[in-house]
Amino acid sequence: MQSQSEFSGRTALVTGAASGIGAATARWLDACGIGELILVDLDRPALDQLGLSCKFRPLGGDVSDPALWKLLERELTRLDYAVLNAGIATNGEITELDIASWRKTMAVNLDGMFLSLRTALRAMKKASSGAVVLTASVSGIKAAAGTAAYSASKAATIQLAKVAAAEAAKYGVRVNAIAPGGVDTGIWDRAEWFAPLVEQHGGRAEALAAMAKDATPLGRFASADEVAAQIGFLLSDVAATITGTCLVSDGGVSL
Ligand code: NAD
Repeated sequence: MQSQSEFSGRTALVTGAASGIGAATARWLDACGIGELILVDLDRPALDQLGLSCKFRPLGGDVSDPALWKLLERELTRLDYAVLNAGIATNGEITELDIASWRKTMAVNLDGMFLSLRTALRAMKKASSGAVVLTASVSGIKAAAGTAAYSASKAATIQLAKVAAAEAAKYGVRVNAIAPGGVDTGIWDRAEWFAPLVEQHGGRAEALAAMAKDATPLGRFASADEVAAQIGFLLSDVAATITGTCLVSDGGVSL
């Protein structure tokens, strides 16, 4: 955890903040003394249940909706940090993938990322400072059958972070991506194929442990809290010379 003074009085935006990595990041920033959080998620009621002690503004909405970002841009007076994290996972081999699933994945994972990144950079450019982290995935680096839409969106996210870093360096803003491997979050529970696996292994934790053991050299998935602290590192002054990188946090999956 970083010193209280580094984050205190500052404002951070977190998307996908109602669950998993986004919720853990909101709590991490809260514990570090952040001044104010702007939290975006489809699940507006869950944003009120995060147990935060800092001032926060819950915004219920879809990250792929340009109107949401237009509204926020009009009202935003300062922004020091942005964690652009909202995302969905879509499965299906290319021969079976329908255009609606493909477009939905691109809308949330890529249009949402572009729109939120543009809003964050416009605010940070005015202040000539700021730090941004985009949540990508190891799927954007390493190919796996059945993940075309998700993997393509995450590879594009990594490249979007690099281009943004190249542009924003001249006005004093850093942009990085993080590429987690498996993380124990609600994203698994939202996948249709996961419930049968839970049944097969006799429980959710058992199913995740079996998947991690098979696929991960370190033998386990990350917790959302671990990834949140890694995002916090990229936001912090300890990472002051790091921009345009993708921090791979995958337990060795991509080796
Ligand atoms: P999660 O499902 O627990 O949380 C995602 C949050 O995003 C949810 O609260 C959901 O309501 C919100 N969301 C989804 N679509 C939205 C939209 N259109 N507009 C606004 N909010 C929306 O999942 P998570 O694992 O915490 O995922 C966070 C990010 O991490 C995603 O980008 C995901 O691709 C990435 N990731 C997750 C894993 C993993 O194993 N969990 C691995 C690599 C990358």
